[in-house]
Amino acid sequence: MSKLTIVMYHYVRDLQNSAFPRIKGLDISSFRRQLDFLQAKYSFLPMGDLTACIKTSTPLPDNACWLTFDDGYRDHYEYVFPELVSRGIEGAFFPPVKSVAEREILDVNKIHFILACIDDVSTLVKELRLLYLSSDLSQYTGKSFDDYWEALAKPGRFDSDDVVFVKCMLQHALPQIWRDRFADFLFKKYVSQDVCAFAEDLYMSSKDLSEMVQAGMYVGSHGYRHLWFSKETRQTQLEEIQNSLTFLGSIGAPTDDWVMCYPYGAYNSETLEILKGKGCIVGLATKVGVADLQHHPHLELPRLDTNDLPQ
Ligand SMILES: [Zn+2]
Repeated sequence: MSKLTIVMYHYVRDLQNSAFPRIKGLDISSFRRQLDFLQAKYSFLPMGDLTACIKTSTPLPDNACWLTFDDGYRDHYEYVFPELVSRGIEGAFFPPVKSVAEREILDVNKIHFILACIDDVSTLVKELRLLYLSSDLSQYTGKSFDDYWEALAKPGRFDSDDVVFVKCMLQHALPQIWRDRFADFLFKKYVSQDVCAFAEDLYMSSKDLSEMVQAGMYVGSHGYRHLWFSKETRQTQLEEIQNSLTFLGSIGAPTDDWVMCYPYGAYNSETLEILKGKGCIVGLATKVGVADLQHHPHLELPRLDTNDLPQ
């Protein structure tokens, strides 16, 4: 067999009792039910076995499944880790180093929490319009706010057009300096003034991650600053990857035959070239599908989202 079902998770938390019940996450009870379902149907593959199968071209076990957790949330330490340990399952975790080591909130996370604090997302679109106009941004971008709306406001797999628009604007469409400024302004207005304490709560620490590695969990690279690799120079990509490997070494995670989980699923031919030179064995994309090791290049494996599976 060459098929591998790789499941991608982000927030997994006790949603009802959390401060942000509307965050788009998986409730811990649904997570447990999903594990029951997966345990009945699949065999979980530890990273060591996957590496061995790839290196010796040995077939994978039937219905092989691999659980991956992106973005280094404390959720993963608090809820996922004990659940996996009690079931004897090895999970794979991909923290962006900056959030763990420097306690900075990723823009993508700021946006999630802003959205979770707003009743009507059209309010946020209006806020963005005001920010755009008052900063006179069309002067820099050569585009009107409505040009952006026309181009970006399309419903996604799991999001309405308003939500897709806000995410696109603040994740990649606007110039970086303005994205950062707007996301920061809106985060402080709607979510919290104390960004540092919020980051402390949101992300695992290096100590948490070392403990998980000690307990047999896999920790791999998700870059240093969680950048869109496809938009970065070769040099920046190289630094991002090298710095994340240095971090992995510092928490006792393997840096030979390691796994790269691309932030936003974004990479280009330069990324692949760098990874080959650095001994990366598997690359995880966000393209949706069941991976097939005979068919897909190993540095470009697709994954299923937790929402694609029964809960
Ligand atoms: Zn990520």
